[in-house]
Amino acid sequence: MDIGKNILSIKTNLPEGVKLVAVSKTKPKADILAAYKTGHRIFGENKVQDLTKKYEELPKDIEWHFIGHPQSNKVKYIAHFISLIHGVDSLKLLKMINKEGKKNDRKIKCLLQFHIAEESTKFGLNVDEAREILDSEAYKNFTNIEIAGVMGMATYTDDKEQIRKEFKMLYNIFTQLKNEYFADSKSFREISMGMSDDYPIALEEGSTMIRVGSNIFGARNY
Ligand SMILES: *Cc1c(COP(=O)(O)O)cnc(C)c1O
Repeated sequence: MDIGKNILSIKTNLPEGVKLVAVSKTKPKADILAAYKTGHRIFGENKVQDLTKKYEELPKDIEWHFIGHPQSNKVKYIAHFISLIHGVDSLKLLKMINKEGKKNDRKIKCLLQFHIAEESTKFGLNVDEAREILDSEAYKNFTNIEIAGVMGMATYTDDKEQIRKEFKMLYNIFTQLKNEYFADSKSFREISMGMSDDYPIALEEGSTMIRVGSNIFGARNY
């Protein structure tokens, strides 16, 4: 596995303006440093405990993304340094992020996660649930949160048309919310979609941020 080569080959083929989140979950520091040496700075983790450890031990100019939904009671451990939380799917979690943002005197960027896959196990909102959050008094009073866009995961399948349909759905949700709630917002602009197996389709469907793990670091052994 040549991590440096993998990351560079993905990045040279990315459309202008699209960001790569190198998903380093379960991988050791040495692997992250191999990617870091190529100049890459954006890494994604999905466990608070692993993330805080890596944050402490690795270079401080890394931009850390949380790619799942942190448990509310654990947000406090990442609030002072996290660059973007991709998996926000409840008002309760937003409240906690706002509270911890306030304590740390910063605005924390979040993406709303939508359920676009067929599998019922995957987390995420539908559009009506998102509207409910965005219309709530609680949301309007948040001072330390910035909603930077949307995130979703497609069904795990070989059916490319199914995957494409789901990414199109997320793109449409983004456009809808942009028009209804964020027309004047410069920060609402990210569509986080695409992983190792499906990111080429996600790029064709308008992704602005892909989250790639195994294609860079190799398969994970859980
Ligand atoms: C693990 C994970 C990824 C990366 O998955 P790969 O298939 O290894 O690229 C992307 N997004 C989320 C939310 C993940 O949990």
